[in-house]
Amino acid sequence: MLHDRFLMTESKKPLTILLASPRGFCAGVDRAIQIVERAIKRYGRPVYVRHEIVHNRFVVQNLEAKGAIFVDELDEVPDDRPVVFSAHGVPKAVTAEAARRDLLYIDATCPLVSKVHREAERHSDQRRTVILIGHAGHPEVIGTIGQLPPGAVLLVEDVKQAEAIDVADPLNLAYATQTTLSVDDTSDIVAALKARFPQIHGPHKEDICYATTNRQEVVKKVAPMVEAMVVVGSPNSSNTQRLKEVAERAGCPRAALVQRAAEIDWSIFGSIASLGVTAGASAPEVLVEEIIGAFAERYAVSVETITTADENMFFPLPRVLRETAAAE
Ligand code: SF4
Repeated sequence: MLHDRFLMTESKKPLTILLASPRGFCAGVDRAIQIVERAIKRYGRPVYVRHEIVHNRFVVQNLEAKGAIFVDELDEVPDDRPVVFSAHGVPKAVTAEAARRDLLYIDATCPLVSKVHREAERHSDQRRTVILIGHAGHPEVIGTIGQLPPGAVLLVEDVKQAEAIDVADPLNLAYATQTTLSVDDTSDIVAALKARFPQIHGPHKEDICYATTNRQEVVKKVAPMVEAMVVVGSPNSSNTQRLKEVAERAGCPRAALVQRAAEIDWSIFGSIASLGVTAGASAPEVLVEEIIGAFAERYAVSVETITTADENMFFPLPRVLRETAAAE
């Protein structure tokens, strides 16, 4: 028996894993999760959360076990319980409805998404039509569009739409972007808008956040060096989906999005000798470890970290929860 186990270990093929850094949780996700945890500590169970606090099933299930109840809409929240708004941001109508019902609400919108909201409002105050570059139906896009009156924001998803968009006053235009887009695709869309509307106003740098940019940058470096790439994260996470696309475009022949080790489709990997691993901004490190562990059961794994940026971003908790944090 011992002899068999030894033979199995010996027969494992060597696999070099290049672990991308930065990867996984960003400051906005970390803050949003802490907000729910601290709200449960402060107000007791249950605390309601409108929409997935961040796009990761594992995170959501963990918070459910601690006392969070996730709902789609505000009318599912009872009058006497607190409600947290997700990191993606909410339309103004949602905040107004919470205030009208006198609900205790805590906004976990990432400060970098709130910054885009304020930009859109500033443009609108200056009577500019805002073109939002983003994905239709994504909660962040719904939240940003919902900062302004109906019709004040036009959505553009790709270069084709940018080239075709019809605007009433081409001299009074501005653009803003979703924070979790592909850096390269967005710069093409912005270029198409600027070619048609040279006077368009926009941010100094696009609104894509530091975490999205850094995770795409390191994937561009790792992807051409490996035979396959695993992106840890959920299919409904925009920044995670972009990492898979970036890996493929950077020349990695096989890129797979994986949520949990049990879901790995091993037929994709076969006889590879090198693998890149990264994680979307809403995927916890424990899942990266779980997935590397699953590879280590099948291959003789050695792990090397490839770092392209250091991150030390931190967003403070909302004031109402800071005392709970300080008391611990
Ligand atoms: S991905 Fe960027 S915008 Fe989204 S929560 Fe993280 S830091 Fe904020």
